[in-house]
Amino acid sequence: MFEKVLIANRGEIALRILRCCRDLGIKTVAVYSTADRDLKHVRLADEAVCIGPPSSTDSYLNIPAIISAAEITSADAVHPGYGFLAENADFAERVESSGFTFIGPTPQVIRTMGDKVSAIREMRAAGVPCVPGSDGPLGKDEDKNKSLAREIGYPVIVKAAGGGGGRGMRVVRGEDELIESIAMTQAEAGAAFGNPTVYMEKYLETPRHVEFQVLADTHGNAIHLGERDCSMQRRHQKVVEEAPAPGISEAMRNDIGARCVEACKRIGYRGAGTFEFLYENGEFYFIEMNTRVQVEHPVTEMVTGVDIIKAQLLVAAGEPLPYKQSDIQIKGHAFECRVNAEDPNNFMPSPGMIKQFHPPGGLGVRVDSHIYNGYVVPPNYDSMIGKLIVYGNTRESAAARMSGALSEVFIDGIKTNIPLHRDIFEDENFLAGGTDIHYLEKKLGL
Ligand code: ADP
Repeated sequence: MFEKVLIANRGEIALRILRCCRDLGIKTVAVYSTADRDLKHVRLADEAVCIGPPSSTDSYLNIPAIISAAEITSADAVHPGYGFLAENADFAERVESSGFTFIGPTPQVIRTMGDKVSAIREMRAAGVPCVPGSDGPLGKDEDKNKSLAREIGYPVIVKAAGGGGGRGMRVVRGEDELIESIAMTQAEAGAAFGNPTVYMEKYLETPRHVEFQVLADTHGNAIHLGERDCSMQRRHQKVVEEAPAPGISEAMRNDIGARCVEACKRIGYRGAGTFEFLYENGEFYFIEMNTRVQVEHPVTEMVTGVDIIKAQLLVAAGEPLPYKQSDIQIKGHAFECRVNAEDPNNFMPSPGMIKQFHPPGGLGVRVDSHIYNGYVVPPNYDSMIGKLIVYGNTRESAAARMSGALSEVFIDGIKTNIPLHRDIFEDENFLAGGTDIHYLEKKLGL
């Protein structure tokens, strides 16, 4: 096992990784920007290295500074967390060529899955169901694109191969908009992602977002940990997640899970990963793969008992997965609320000092957060300040426990989206289960 791991991230995920390293007796190196000196994991880490000014470009995205920090502290491995450089193949390559282990898949796999056109091609070949679409990039031939859209059937969605974060896509409802929409998406994609390639898919009107968690090692073993439902979204950002997804039968879970496992073996996947699907009328449609740990990984941990970060560390150290598929049982139900420092009425960020923080507690309540009394939330980064996760034997008991935890939590000094979460956990349709990806925005009148 590694002796020392550098954590190339900040906030709650950096703390989560640090705690896991402590469980395993691994020393930690925190890297931080000048805005983040007071982060909890920076204080707790065995060593801490300042890597630059507040701007992410100059700190958490500064590859040479992170590599230097690994060199001067003699770290063995680098954990990228999520966001920042986690899905940057060049970073993974630089980490490895500098003699450190990258805790994640190979640069080549990150590159293949980061391009949605090549990812879909791989998934089709592995037998994973995909959205009916262009089966490759769109060419210049306007008539061909028109007949393709007609074949798929309107509405269609034009998407950038290099897109991410819900950007670089456009819904097209009729032929009169098609050619212009393709040109606009290409231009935007070129400017935003440095890659103008776009492809076309059937636009699904009322899908749910259901994703499968996988783990794979370097000995040819791969397993899935079942699925999560992340349909409660605002502007393509997940707000509440749960595991398992309401209404997914065991047979369906086993079928789609097995196909994801097959895909992992085919592409030589290693580490933790997520296959994201849209789910509509009882059918799954693959949309993309995330080649990293996800924000919502705890709900899967709660219902399977598997420590996903620990599995990442074991696999990166070359050990075989400590579980077979038959060891994995989905038990009970878990919810996660993403707590953001933002105004619940207009969603504007609300940085500043946390004067008082009373976390909720009790059986089945987990708080993954780096905040504390007197901590100042900086304005420079994502507004998520923590996650509230609950477990219950049934979906109903887990939801009741979340309601209780949300009424108990108290954060003073900044505004948070806790009131929004309280509303969600009182919403009859949400409580019934199975609401689609547009439900939250409709509820909010957006
Ligand atoms: P990103 O990498 O930007 O997150 P995704 O391919 O995962 O892009 O899509 C993000 C979101 O866009 C989905 O969660 C869904 O809400 C919407 N979306 C993408 N493709 C489709 C589609 N074919 N039909 C309907 N909605 C879609």
